Amino acid sequence: MKVGILGGGQLGRMLALEGRKLGLTFRFLEPAQPAPVDDLGEVIRAPYDDPEALDRFVDGLDVVTYEFENVPVAATRHLVDRVPVHPAPSALAVGQDRVSEKEAFRDADFLTAPFRAVDSLEELRDAVAELGLPAVLKTRRMGYDGKGQTVLRAEADVAPAWERLGGVPLLLESFVPFQRELSIIGVRGRDGASVFYPLVENVHRDGILWTTVAPAPRVSPELQAEAEGHVRHFLDHHGYVGVLAIELFDVDGKLLANEMAPRVHNSGHWTLDGAETSQFENHVRAVCGLPLGSTAPRCPSAMLNFLGDVPPLSEVLRVPGAHPHLYDKSPRPGRKVGHVNVTGADAAEVAERLAALEALALG
Ligand code: AMP
Repeated sequence: MKVGILGGGQLGRMLALEGRKLGLTFRFLEPAQPAPVDDLGEVIRAPYDDPEALDRFVDGLDVVTYEFENVPVAATRHLVDRVPVHPAPSALAVGQDRVSEKEAFRDADFLTAPFRAVDSLEELRDAVAELGLPAVLKTRRMGYDGKGQTVLRAEADVAPAWERLGGVPLLLESFVPFQRELSIIGVRGRDGASVFYPLVENVHRDGILWTTVAPAPRVSPELQAEAEGHVRHFLDHHGYVGVLAIELFDVDGKLLANEMAPRVHNSGHWTLDGAETSQFENHVRAVCGLPLGSTAPRCPSAMLNFLGDVPPLSEVLRVPGAHPHLYDKSPRPGRKVGHVNVTGADAAEVAERLAALEALALG
């Protein structure tokens, strides 16, 4: 089978590396050059909304998926007449707007922070009066890694926040006093079967994912089952095919859904070394209509992102259980250039090894 991927970043790279093990071949549509997928298949270098490039891209493909969620929905709709596109453009559209995303969470019985759509300074003032402070003002579209958002702590923050973000559709939501951030990844196949990875615990630095610990500590079987139930509901409701990631806040043992990604997710990178089947392989299996693989953890593990640059490889490799994955990207401040997974016999050993890797990454 030949799989087309919209986007050619590190997620596309890892999808192709895992998919090639199953004998699949890949074609990418990616505007940037160079790209992490350059040596992994044919790369069509064009903007996502170039109709002629989309025609060339889709020719001879068996299925199309994406690794980047801000692909224009119109581009994916252009493709659905020619080839199956998974996840469906409607799921992509939900994830591109924070209001429809929150509504979809509620449809799946997830709790969310209270929120209001905001299109003017007056509406922002009304929303602040209704929700109270502190609150977080976010752009409805194109926000990622904490970009396009600001925390309002006092009335005096309202007008400057509007100055900074106003002019595009916004969303105000209550500030959630969470104890920790978790995420869950579900995968649904073309036949409707779904599987779930364990909840993992994520730590961010400057809005960018820094570490993931898998499975998350202190998760009861009931909490895992509850999260899976909501994700299953979401997947079935949308007739979803592929990997879906949902980021959650843990507030006193209650889970609030914050954000979804209709694609493989950074908080699932640990699965390359820590799970029976990686999220990348399972995504490829799902979109190709193949049976899904076991999501069971092989052992306790963790992931650390390399942001900006890669620490000296020989020192990383000296840490027992460390498995680096480098993306072939040039160094740039804050850029995700690779990650390292680390495994261990138990959670304490993983924590010790992760701390050693963090010290290397912080230089
Ligand atoms: P997001 O772009 O929605 O994933 O937000 C990026 C990060 O900002 C999250 O991972 C949280 O650490 C923080 N954040 C977002 N929304 C809220 C909120 N309503 N309350 C508290 N922190 C938040």
